[in-house]
Amino acid sequence: MNEDAAAPRPLAEIASYHAHIYYNGQAERQDAEWLRLRIGERFRVRLGSWHDQKVGPHDQAMYQVSFAKEVFASLVPWLMLNHRGLSILIHPNTTNPRRDHLVDPLWIGRPLDVHGDILTDDDEAEEALPPNTSPSLPA
Ligand code: ZN
Repeated sequence: MNEDAAAPRPLAEIASYHAHIYYNGQAERQDAEWLRLRIGERFRVRLGSWHDQKVGPHDQAMYQVSFAKEVFASLVPWLMLNHRGLSILIHPNTTNPRRDHLVDPLWIGRPLDVHGDILTDDDEAEEALPPNTSPSLPA
């Protein structure tokens, strides 16, 4: 491919983001609980259900945080500082979930396996889910 002719992918491809916060065992679950509470106090996001069993492409227990593009610049650095050693997958939501999870994500903490074989590469880009937090503290 001619590098000069290849158009970069535009930011408009990204409809929203997910953070997947992983834990393994009781001590890490307590860290995940600590983190969840403090995220909710500080950020307007959608805190997803606890998945104590592996679900979807994920290789460990986790919960999902769905958030709008505008939240990225504050939430992601805050998670860098406060993840307590937990592994966190941050991925964009575009029309290609497989690529979002396997090729284009970033990790905070130790990267884990992601089982992308069950993901599609052609889907509707997911908008941020309605927030269910009422933040009252500064990050
Ligand atoms: Zn996700």
